[in-house]
Amino acid sequence: MQVGKAIGEEVPIKIHYIWSWPHDQSVTDTWRVGRAFLAGDAAHHFPPHGGFGLNSGVQDVHNLAWKLVAKLRWNAGDQLLDSYEDERLPVAEFNGDQCMRNTRDLAKTGFLAEDKTFLTVIETDTEEGDRARKAFAEGVESQREHLASDG
Ligand SMILES: Cc1cc2nc3c(=O)[nH]c(=O)nc-3n(C[C@H](O)[C@H](O)[C@H](O)COP(=O)(O)OP(=O)(O)OC[C@H]3O[C@@H](n4cnc5c(N)ncnc54)[C@H](O)[C@@H]3O)c2cc1C
Repeated sequence: MQVGKAIGEEVPIKIHYIWSWPHDQSVTDTWRVGRAFLAGDAAHHFPPHGGFGLNSGVQDVHNLAWKLVAKLRWNAGDQLLDSYEDERLPVAEFNGDQCMRNTRDLAKTGFLAEDKTFLTVIETDTEEGDRARKAFAEGVESQREHLASDG
């Protein structure tokens, strides 16, 4: 029913799989062991708020790929490969911290709560609807850092 409301048409929906994710952050402190490198969610995972997860993973690989080529084709020094962790670890921590801040700010709006009553009352012409619209408007305002992130 909510899907039909979102796309503006009731169409038959079959749910194949339901999956959830925790709102937490973790960043590995070991990005390389010999010839093995971690990249993407294997190295760091964040809550999705801010859209940093895949972006960070692509940037990891962008950082790593040319270094591997330099090592394999031109026998670059091993320190070049070590610089992968030096460069990516602080970025992953920075991005993860931002995602956690976004999550906490989003939680203040009530949007992350299990109880989504405001979604059903928000369109109603009632005092409860007024309250829900006001809370939602304030919530959007407080999400500037989240929604207008340069990262
Ligand atoms: C709701 C939600 C919204 C998101 N929105 C954004 C967004 O807007 N922008 C953004 O940048 N990021 C977003 N992300 C994060 C993004 O989805 C992840 O960061 C990204 O998918 C991680 O890619 P990955 O390739 O590192 O890992 P994964 O996508 O997890 O890929 C790993 C793959 O390895 C496979 N695999 C696991 N174990 C084995 C094994 N033993 N053998 C073989 N294969 C294996 C898995 O099946 C999987 O296909 C969002 C995440 C969620 C949950």
